[in-house]
Amino acid sequence: MCPNGKKRKGDEGAEDTTNNDHLVTSDDQNHPANLIPSLCAKFWTLGWVTGTGGGASIRDDDLVYIAPSGVQKELMKASDLYVLALSQQTDLKNRVYLRSPPGGRPSQCTPLFLAAFTKRGAGCCIHTHSHWAVLVTLLLEAQGPGQDKVFEINNIEQIKGFGRGFQKQGNLDYHDTLRIPVIENTSHEEDLTEFLEEAMDKYPDTYAVLVRRHGVYVWGDNVHKAKTMCESLDYLFQLAVEMKQLGLPWLSNVPKVITSSGR
Ligand SMILES: [Zn+2]
Repeated sequence: MCPNGKKRKGDEGAEDTTNNDHLVTSDDQNHPANLIPSLCAKFWTLGWVTGTGGGASIRDDDLVYIAPSGVQKELMKASDLYVLALSQQTDLKNRVYLRSPPGGRPSQCTPLFLAAFTKRGAGCCIHTHSHWAVLVTLLLEAQGPGQDKVFEINNIEQIKGFGRGFQKQGNLDYHDTLRIPVIENTSHEEDLTEFLEEAMDKYPDTYAVLVRRHGVYVWGDNVHKAKTMCESLDYLFQLAVEMKQLGLPWLSNVPKVITSSGR
């Protein structure tokens, strides 16, 4: 089948049932197969998935929905998506798909998305090539070896948009320090996986990993959490770049205000 659902030459015999097209066919706008294209179209307007880079993946219980590689993310359709079952994967390098649209390849980000799903039980993982994320990694790089591996910021209201960490209740406080580890970029996106997993082990409570001169991976328990944390992070990255331009430090010592409620 063509991505648009019409049969083309050479597809004879490729009935819907054999390629599990029903997995990506739904009238529900919140179905993962419909959400991924609509979210990516919105992300494109933010410059997060420009020029086929970046993307998003959603896990619905055992099923994982993945975009194709090298496509214009704002024009993607539900019928373009790949689907796999996590429980059927024995070798994450040689993945088995329940649905593979002909003529393409699944996203190069797939093993990184799967790391968020398998190691953190995430329900959604978003990858952006945001300018602000890239600039933060460059500013850290300019600080030199030993001071370039983690982005830290505290005493900013938007920090409250982040969960406390894996299997922990509640969100960070305004005074808490948000820490996002940075990994070095590789020539092939798939090769980032082992370094992303290392960063997850070293920073078990993080919901994001920056990739130097590349972008950021952000995940959450569900689409809502992954999306809002990704938005909060982008806000903080932009703020951090502008703070640096103004000579303001990312870490500050702001005393807690004593309120009448005693909190
Ligand atoms: Zn990328």
